[in-house]
Amino acid sequence: MGGRFSVLEGNRMDAKSTLLKERLESLLKQAAAVASQLQGIEQGSGTPHYDEIELPAHELGQRLSRMIQSDRATEIAIAEKTQTACPDCSRPCRVEVQHRTANSMDGPIEIAESIAKCRHSQAVFFSLSVLR
Ligand SMILES: [Zn+2]
Repeated sequence: MGGRFSVLEGNRMDAKSTLLKERLESLLKQAAAVASQLQGIEQGSGTPHYDEIELPAHELGQRLSRMIQSDRATEIAIAEKTQTACPDCSRPCRVEVQHRTANSMDGPIEIAESIAKCRHSQAVFFSLSVLR
């Protein structure tokens, strides 16, 4: 990030980032406590096999991962500029937001992504090229 932000902006972002990290930590603790209570209710009074603890916990982790990926990718797509230069011919192309299902390592996610089609060179390119 060197040189991208002023010292003042940097400090403000650090403060915001610290607050958000604390909030996330607190929310994750709450989520873990609620998920654990839910497991307790669903499993009843007997001693569960460890798989019965681990598998739903892992599934919930993957669900959280999909939610983060979907939110973040959509956020980036919406913030994209409405015009961009074609990588082939450098002419300006209109950027549109398109919705689709993408495969993540934690399962399918619904995302919005920005896509541009060049009318001149027929090139189709994604502004957010990290998506599969
Ligand atoms: Zn082009």
